[in-house]
Amino acid sequence: MKVKIDEDLCIGCGVCEGICPDVFEMEGDVATVTVDTVPEDQQDDVLDAESECPTNAISHE
Ligand code: SF4
Repeated sequence: MKVKIDEDLCIGCGVCEGICPDVFEMEGDVATVTVDTVPEDQQDDVLDAESECPTNAISHE
């Protein structure tokens, strides 16, 4: 699974980093993805972060 963040939608709330700090990291006022491919044991947390993101800025494929 790959995950990405739409920087135009991200409001920098930090929720994704709080849920899955191994994949999401705040960089100034936007979140970034720190992995190319999401490790299998992180996938549930990534999906949680995606559904908890208040602006739907996170998507995966
Ligand atoms: S949860 Fe969404 S809005 Fe908040 S920092 Fe992460 S990507 Fe940005």
